[in-house]
Amino acid sequence: MHFDLLELISASSAFSAVRNMFTIAANLASVRERIEAAARRAGREPHTVRLVAVCKTVGPERVREAVEAGAQILAENYIQEAQRKIETLRVGIPWHFIGHLQKNKAKYAIRLFDLIHSVDNFALVEELNRTAQKQGKVQEVLLQADLSGEETKFGVSEGEIIQMAEKISGLKNISVKGLMTLPPFSDDPEESRPYFQKLRSLRDLLAKRKIPGISMDELSMGMSGDFEVAVEEGATLVRIGTAIFGPRPAKH
Ligand SMILES: *Cc1c(COP(=O)(O)O)cnc(C)c1O
Repeated sequence: MHFDLLELISASSAFSAVRNMFTIAANLASVRERIEAAARRAGREPHTVRLVAVCKTVGPERVREAVEAGAQILAENYIQEAQRKIETLRVGIPWHFIGHLQKNKAKYAIRLFDLIHSVDNFALVEELNRTAQKQGKVQEVLLQADLSGEETKFGVSEGEIIQMAEKISGLKNISVKGLMTLPPFSDDPEESRPYFQKLRSLRDLLAKRKIPGISMDELSMGMSGDFEVAVEEGATLVRIGTAIFGPRPAKH
């Protein structure tokens, strides 16, 4: 007879919480090791890459487990889901917003997030600036670049991004920290590499312009399937969900 210990443990819900906890901690440790190895391969200091744990669809208990296992930044895609989780958890570490942000949600985004990765149009930035001013905050943001021209993707085109940075330069309550991109989905991480290289070149180009108030220190790129390639190409923030928390329900 064949006994699978894990299956036996899964059968009991009391144990399944414990199993999840070890899984999340083990996954985090493994992702960290892979980030470090990729950084070393590229001659980078591993501490220059920050791991952002993407917890969309993940319940508060499991997010807390990730924090207890050492996650230092959490990220969400949806404002309402984020608000509930942030208020329930009160974990005292930074939250980042990485989803598409609608103008009418600007005030929640300003209140809840330390960094917004996904700024993709000037009307949104103006609204964020106005709201941040009211709340007495300088909001840190990244500009999301659309490097693939896919119609389903949000983001500012390469051609428009310099002009947008120059316009944002005049907004006192917005602080641009760098760029973010989301390459077209592929099973092969190497297919993402040209997009990551493009984002880095665009960052270098913008940095050279020395636009007042615009800093270009951060490159937010790389997800569960391609973060090692992103680190090799200069990512400073990798956004990782599945590799930490396991697969999400299909709708996401
Ligand atoms: C969901 C999401 C991620 C994380 O994706 P995984 O493949 O689960 O690591 C990263 N970035 C954005 C913008 C996302 O929406």
